[in-house]
Amino acid sequence: MTNPTGENSISLLGSTGSVGRQTLDVAEHLGLRIRALSAGKSVKLLEEQARRFKPEVVAVYDENAARDLEARVRDLNVRVASGIDGLIEAACVDGAEVVVTASVGTIGLLPTLSAIRLGRRIALANKETLVCAGELVMKSAREHGCEIIPVDSEHSALYQCLCGEDSESVKKLILTASGGPFRGMRRAALMNATPEMALKHPNWNMGRKITIDSATLMNKGLEVMEATALFGISAERVDVVIHPESVVHSMVEYADSSVIAQLSEPDMRLPIQYAITYPQRVPSPTKALDFSKLSRLSFEKPDYDAFPCLELALRTAGVSGTARAVLNGANEAAVGRFLNGELGFYGIYDSVLAALEKIGNIESPSLDDIIEAGESAKEFVEKYRL
Ligand code: MG
Repeated sequence: MTNPTGENSISLLGSTGSVGRQTLDVAEHLGLRIRALSAGKSVKLLEEQARRFKPEVVAVYDENAARDLEARVRDLNVRVASGIDGLIEAACVDGAEVVVTASVGTIGLLPTLSAIRLGRRIALANKETLVCAGELVMKSAREHGCEIIPVDSEHSALYQCLCGEDSESVKKLILTASGGPFRGMRRAALMNATPEMALKHPNWNMGRKITIDSATLMNKGLEVMEATALFGISAERVDVVIHPESVVHSMVEYADSSVIAQLSEPDMRLPIQYAITYPQRVPSPTKALDFSKLSRLSFEKPDYDAFPCLELALRTAGVSGTARAVLNGANEAAVGRFLNGELGFYGIYDSVLAALEKIGNIESPSLDDIIEAGESAKEFVEKYRL
């Protein structure tokens, strides 16, 4: 099948995660060629994907996992690369017009920056890239004439609502949030919330880390940071509204008080496809909305008392320097500890707040400063005791 967009091949970082697997669905649907795949260490799935999609390069971050994969795919004509250099090689593979960055965590930062320097289009699904290093990444993208098209559903919605409009006339961006599995619950009831409870997301089927971030609403705070970097707007001009149906994916309010929204069934394949085929729109596997069955769309204010991570992230979103990298790194470690049963639900907030208070902010940071700030925050939280 010839892909109607002319964008014929992609590199996919983070192919074994939720967005990665859905990107492969989209690639199949669009008839795209996969030039490179990468993952942290999920060798078995990566082997299956390599057999099916026949990339030229497969990168695995973990060295032992890379050796294991190499043995498994000896019969294929594929190069197995490892470590951060391997991920960079996958991001920069020859011939890929679009690099889909779906890896989780700050590991995606260097490979993404390397692909930006080559002027490749980035279909950006790795939140941490913009959360931690938004200014550096957007500056580099401008210098290299690189397009960054967001894959996160809210940012894809905003991107679509901003198309063809004068950025001067934007009053504010309105990010919608489903509210997660704990919507409507009060602080007292959430004190003893368990990972099992938090992992049951009502609308979206996602990886474990982001599902916990949706339960604490930290995810929405990270998305506000992502939006400020991507659209060059201050944090005060980004609102968050709870919208349990997850049909309106976000909105833009203009100077004349007109609001433009993007709606669809909650299906990540749509924003993934849009980021690859932009500015064209082509048929997708996403079901069309049936307005006769859509009985209501509701909106409410976030409960900052029950979900203090959101308030903390909104406050940090307005701080330049390394603070956002600290918040992000601390949160990554805290979510890991919550999932292991070492921290309670509000232990996530407490330890992230403690990391922000303990680790000083560096203004105008270098990339190394940013990475180091995130690592220090992780270490701090690993050792954090209530
Ligand atoms: Mg999102």
